[in-house]
Amino acid sequence: MENIYIDKKMCSGCSACKDICPFGAIEMREDEEGFSYPYILQDKCKNCGKCVKLCAFKRENIDHAKLPRDILGVKIKDIDERKSSRSGGMFIAIANYILKENGVVYGCILGDNLEVYHTRAITKQDVNKFKGSKYVKSNLKEVYREVKEDLNNGKKVLFSGTSCEIAGLKTILKNENTENLYTCDIICHGVPSPLIYKKYIDFMEEKENDKIIHVDFRDKSFGWSTHKETLTFQNKKLSTNYFTELFYSHHILRPSCFNCSFSNMDRISDITIGDFWGIQEENYEFYDEDGVSLVLVNTEKGETIVENIKDEIDFIKVFDNYKQHNLRAPSVQPENREEFWNDYRENNFEFIMKKYAKYEEQSLEMV
Ligand SMILES: Cc1cc2nc3c(=O)[nH]c(=O)nc-3n(C[C@H](O)[C@H](O)[C@H](O)COP(=O)(O)OP(=O)(O)OC[C@H]3O[C@@H](n4cnc5c(N)ncnc54)[C@H](O)[C@@H]3O)c2cc1C
Repeated sequence: MENIYIDKKMCSGCSACKDICPFGAIEMREDEEGFSYPYILQDKCKNCGKCVKLCAFKRENIDHAKLPRDILGVKIKDIDERKSSRSGGMFIAIANYILKENGVVYGCILGDNLEVYHTRAITKQDVNKFKGSKYVKSNLKEVYREVKEDLNNGKKVLFSGTSCEIAGLKTILKNENTENLYTCDIICHGVPSPLIYKKYIDFMEEKENDKIIHVDFRDKSFGWSTHKETLTFQNKKLSTNYFTELFYSHHILRPSCFNCSFSNMDRISDITIGDFWGIQEENYEFYDEDGVSLVLVNTEKGETIVENIKDEIDFIKVFDNYKQHNLRAPSVQPENREEFWNDYRENNFEFIMKKYAKYEEQSLEMV
């Protein structure tokens, strides 16, 4: 087999091809931008073509006119849960319900070593670690295999992540009984490079001569609608916007994000969640600076979830009147993306920080 994808814009790195290869002939390897791609081990490959045929990124017959069964504005009633969630706490409301049913929840955490990855949780304490947006491409590790095992053992499973990650999971589970699987995707602007994130952490540690022990990519204590990140060092806490600048500049997003086949209303999950920007215009009474989730209920299973959590949430029904670019189209690739990566290869990281993250133009604030 030559390759699974034609160019990098055609691979989200979901790693489903690695798991479905009957010959163990695929490995995920990082490229120079720090994103993982499938690599074919020629000595093991038997050219069966399963990886190409089942590639989760390829979607045919997307229905751009499709509408969800319901569109909701949601706020979890428990204010502590809401304050510790990114938007209105819809994710944790669903996760709490799955835990109550003795189920298993999968989601994205920031590990002790600050790595962003997906993992399995069966306790409230561990599920809480999924709360909050980590603006980095998550490493899926072995979670697809673990989900399959849980489903085979009759467990109820909630899988949360980006649409492309859920598409990968569904590919793996094509011939399995998925009656007990519930999926929840986030509206996604695109996923930044884990390599640049790591370089950023190293840079800030060196500059501050202190070790970072936690990153809050969007610290809600500044308010739901503001975007400020907080770096907790061993000896201090600083707030800045450097990584946020890199994120919104789009230079560090994965190439496939500019060609995302999931940035439309034909959703792949049971429930889609995001920030309900523009809620003030939709329903001023429901606006709240502690956060409001926009929730698309896409399937019958999604409706069952809402029915089961309705005592835990305040919600309003809305119509197609929300501001979300990535429900209509992928994020736009910056014209100078190549210049960024050339600069990265040819200069030290301080150069990148000054040119692209406004380092030194912005001041660090002690929190
Ligand atoms: C890369 C990225 C891009 C985003 N882009 C948008 C956007 O364009 N518009 C918008 O409205 N909102 C965006 N969000 C925010 C997202 O919509 C919120 O996570 C969502 O509103 C959930 O809020 P909540 O209060 O229900 O959940 P929270 O309790 O905050 O739940 C967080 C959920 O996000 C998942 N998650 C966190 N980080 C990642 C990650 N790196 N990869 C995969 N899953 C992750 C967790 O598994 C969990 O399910 C983005 C988040 C990320 C991580």
